Amino acid sequence: MQTIKVLKGISKRTVNTSLNFDDYMRCLTDSSTAIYSSFTTLQPKDFQMRTVRVTKKSLSPVCLKRYYCCAIHGLPFFSKEIDIFRETGQCPMCTKTFEEREAQLLEYLSREPASATDTE
Ligand SMILES: [Zn+2]
Repeated sequence: MQTIKVLKGISKRTVNTSLNFDDYMRCLTDSSTAIYSSFTTLQPKDFQMRTVRVTKKSLSPVCLKRYYCCAIHGLPFFSKEIDIFRETGQCPMCTKTFEEREAQLLEYLSREPASATDTE
């Protein structure tokens, strides 16, 4: 199994050299951990290119764009299905509670990697 690390707005070199799979897992499982990365990039200023040292939040456990019913499925805010979730306590898409789905996800992530059958 090949691990592919992708982050939006962070240089590939920084992602490949300074972040590892444990950082992603720490961010998923610990709701208070955000990871920052520093890297040098080119930016134009007054019509001249300059090298600038940038520090950005690269991994964050908080997603403010969706309402999460379980560890996987999220709904857009103001969706009517959020009311269903609040009444029943079960995700409308997989009918599991948040804790059941989180336990299932952690169990899946802790498995041994599959043998080389992935296609890339
Ligand atoms: Zn779900």
